[in-house]
Amino acid sequence: MIDNEQEPTVNQSKNSQEAKSNTQVLPQLSLPPALSVKQLADLLKVSAIEVIKQLMREGVMVNINQVLDFDTAAVIATHFGYKAEKQPISVQTKPSETGKGKGGKLFPRPPVVTIMGHVDHGKTSLLDAIRQSNVIATEAGAITQHIGAYQVEIDGRKITFLDTPGHEAFTTMRARGAQATDIAILVVAADDGVMPQTVEAINHARAAEVPVVVAINKIDKANANSDKVKQQLADSGLIIEEWGGDTVCVSISAKKRQGINVLLENLLLVADILELRAELDCPAEGVVIEAKLDKTKGPLATLLVQKGTLKPGDNLVIGNTWGKVKAMFNERGKQIKKAKPSTPVEALGINSVPQAGDSFIVARDEREARTLAEKHKDAQHEFVTSGKTLSLSDLSTQIDAGEVKELNIVLKTDVQGSIEPIKDSLEQLGDDKIKVKVIHSGSGRITESDVLLALASEAVIIGFNSRPEPGAQRLAELERVSIRYYDVIYKLVQDVDKALKGMLEPTYVEVIEGQAEVLAIFGSRKGENIAGVSVKEGKVRRGASARILRRGESIHESHVSSLKRFKEDVKEVSTGLECGVKIENFTDFQVGDVIQCYRQEKVT
Ligand code: GDP
Repeated sequence: MIDNEQEPTVNQSKNSQEAKSNTQVLPQLSLPPALSVKQLADLLKVSAIEVIKQLMREGVMVNINQVLDFDTAAVIATHFGYKAEKQPISVQTKPSETGKGKGGKLFPRPPVVTIMGHVDHGKTSLLDAIRQSNVIATEAGAITQHIGAYQVEIDGRKITFLDTPGHEAFTTMRARGAQATDIAILVVAADDGVMPQTVEAINHARAAEVPVVVAINKIDKANANSDKVKQQLADSGLIIEEWGGDTVCVSISAKKRQGINVLLENLLLVADILELRAELDCPAEGVVIEAKLDKTKGPLATLLVQKGTLKPGDNLVIGNTWGKVKAMFNERGKQIKKAKPSTPVEALGINSVPQAGDSFIVARDEREARTLAEKHKDAQHEFVTSGKTLSLSDLSTQIDAGEVKELNIVLKTDVQGSIEPIKDSLEQLGDDKIKVKVIHSGSGRITESDVLLALASEAVIIGFNSRPEPGAQRLAELERVSIRYYDVIYKLVQDVDKALKGMLEPTYVEVIEGQAEVLAIFGSRKGENIAGVSVKEGKVRRGASARILRRGESIHESHVSSLKRFKEDVKEVSTGLECGVKIENFTDFQVGDVIQCYRQEKVT
């Protein structure tokens, strides 16, 4: 990971605007030696997706949080009309003042909608109901295939639905830098009310700044209580229009197919407010919704076009693969010749299976597509470990660098009752420079969904008497999402406060790497004793910190000075194997002693 030490600034000589128009001198953009994709996007006043796509064209595969070196950032800045400089210049201005803003004419595009909500509240039933509703049984024919997304038509206008319900899929895509959704439908069962995953879905949509339309489902049931649901939604911060808020709410029965048209009409109203537009006459760009390997057709990918028009024969770069679109089909099994923005198509002709959430672009020709894809592959190795996430211990550096203005927190507690006091105390911290925002809170263990949300929203996870599920722990380690654990509220709040003020001392925890039991002792010619051991757990590593435990008591601490297997020096020995170990400044081994190897890790 590259540390970012300098604050990025945009600098432009006073007359550079004129200079640009007269002599084609590009405005200058002063960049630090390293900055994240998001930070660069903010400076360039374009979306992170635009930056990611341009990076793809340059052969660099990154996600939104990853850090770019100056040279890479400079190339991207040039594309967006700037000349990047490492040294700051004195006069400041905003990139939006530089007269850039090229791009073609924008046309209205259909909204892309995701369905979220608690398990069993009827997400799948609603997707089915919309799919089969009369509204869509137009001359286009019935939906015959699952390709991961489908379009329906109402009043001559289209709506695109992503066919994988749930906020996990939504946030997974977002964590990969792709935001495909314009509107989220929040399904709440009228007989069950707001449940933990309902709240989670609200928070995930909110973190992504995606508007929510509520569908109160199962109104056909005898014990349906819509008013109670509305009250609970208000308690969760979603005030519906009927109650003076701005959240659209529709009562439906997915099972009885009631209220579906009204829901669709309301989605169009919300879409109108959002003024969704995209360019049509440019090479297509978009995102992979789903991909699979078909036994007969080969790799298949459902692509959601977000800009431009996709056509058969287009040469695609998708993630680190490429291909030429042989044919495209819609969800009705119909071959189509053009896919405009917000249209999902299943494309044939890709060389290997991409990942959901991968971006795609159209290259100039086959050669360029192949070269770019190859470059992505190589670049992926370099960038795989350069992901930048937020951590409390270096928060103040990031605040000083202007990288964070809000400390996002995902809070998990053992019991519901602890949430409010902790949340209240946390949200009172901060000052003009930085605010604390609890973007999601809930009781129970820390889940994969929490980690994804933290990843997508650059948040820190705080577990108060709550530990992660094993999958969540692995994901957090892999993506380097910071999780901190507390069991005293005072300490938790104090640490966050200290972190905001840059006063949080790094703390270290001991991680046991492995344990080995002494089976025999051998004397060496130099008079040093070598312990013949069997590794019982983890591994023993040459150079590792080690302690000797005798009947559970530590009798010596130093490090492994020599490690041999069959007289060969080795770096490490794993569980189940035997080896010879020397411990620095220790010769007094006894059979039955345990050698414990450990390391100190900084808590982030
Ligand atoms: P999901 O887990 O949110 O995708 O929920 P499902 O769509 O699988 O629905 C869960 C259960 O609720 C199923 O047994 C559905 O038949 C039932 N269900 C869904 N919508 C309705 C509805 O409007 N009315 C009634 N009575 N049952 C429904």
